[in-house]
Amino acid sequence: MSNLEDLPIRDSLKGRKPYGAPQLHVHVALNVNENTHRIPEAAALDIVGRLAAAVLNINRYPDREFVDLRAALADYLGHDLAVENVWAANGSNEVLQQIFMAFGGTGRSVLGFDPTYSMYALLGQATDTRYISAGRGDRYELTPEIVRAAILEHKPDIVILCSPNNPTGTPLSLECIEAAYEATGGILVVDEAYAEFASSGEPSAITLLPGRERLMVSRTMSKAFAFAGARLGYLAADPAVVDALRLVRLPYHLSAFTQAAAEGALAHADEMLATVEDIKMQRDRIVDALVSFGLDPYRTDTNFILFGGLKDSAEAFEALLARGVLVRNMGIPGTLRVSAGTVDETTAFLTALEAYLNEG
Ligand SMILES: *Cc1c(COP(=O)(O)O)cnc(C)c1O
Repeated sequence: MSNLEDLPIRDSLKGRKPYGAPQLHVHVALNVNENTHRIPEAAALDIVGRLAAAVLNINRYPDREFVDLRAALADYLGHDLAVENVWAANGSNEVLQQIFMAFGGTGRSVLGFDPTYSMYALLGQATDTRYISAGRGDRYELTPEIVRAAILEHKPDIVILCSPNNPTGTPLSLECIEAAYEATGGILVVDEAYAEFASSGEPSAITLLPGRERLMVSRTMSKAFAFAGARLGYLAADPAVVDALRLVRLPYHLSAFTQAAAEGALAHADEMLATVEDIKMQRDRIVDALVSFGLDPYRTDTNFILFGGLKDSAEAFEALLARGVLVRNMGIPGTLRVSAGTVDETTAFLTALEAYLNEG
């Protein structure tokens, strides 16, 4: 067998590393911000019925325009969105990849505000879109001034704002999004993967869509809907944006099974989202406990918490893992990131962390 280095891959991919959150089999996995609750049984049974119906027609290609699913997504999002405003793909990562393919590419650039979702830079590499990393303010907050200045300095073709931000949890104000839109001549992507967990009361960027045809808002069923394994991400934007994404999508990219499963989940949206309030309670419980441990949690509007104040994050990560709890070391000194799990998982995390802190 040859090595990757021996293959004639594109120069821009040489020496690169793939996305690599560890997938370890541990008792308590709180490392990739999944909803750790199972989906409700009634929804699961309905989905199985829809999958069974789909398999009977599986000799045919699925609806390439997935109109029923887009209608259900538009209905879920509200804000008077129509089918023409909505698009979807296999995870919001694929939606983002399609955006990069349509609006980025060789000679073009994308601006992100780090630390932020690592896939933005990786998608830049994969599509030869130059990734420009701008910084954040105190405690990872963004202000309209910071956003505007970075955009005016770099003049990127794509601006991507993660709202709330992963891995820091930081909420983003609509003023920042409006400032970004006004400053850029390119497109503005707002990644709202965690929108359903917001407690700050900040409205969705979807409210800004009317009259802003270069704005797009991405969402996912991977987090609040507890549907990560199904792979369904989606987008709300002007219909012309959807036309642009059609140019780069693969034909029939959403399988009949994916469409049927997602439609089933959306038909049970209320039950599927019933765990969100519980998860927010566990998140707030973790924040309070971290403060009582003398640690330093950052402001969060998501189902996870980035916290500082650790002597050595690699050592803390290993100590938690040795106790069966997997969290995420984002490489930010003194910090770790943990997802809020079920009551029991959250207790296991807090117990393990407290034991580690008491040792040292
Ligand atoms: C988890 C996550 C996504 C979702 O990815 P999917 O491909 O939809 O599973 C998108 N953006 C951010 C910031 C995330 O954390």
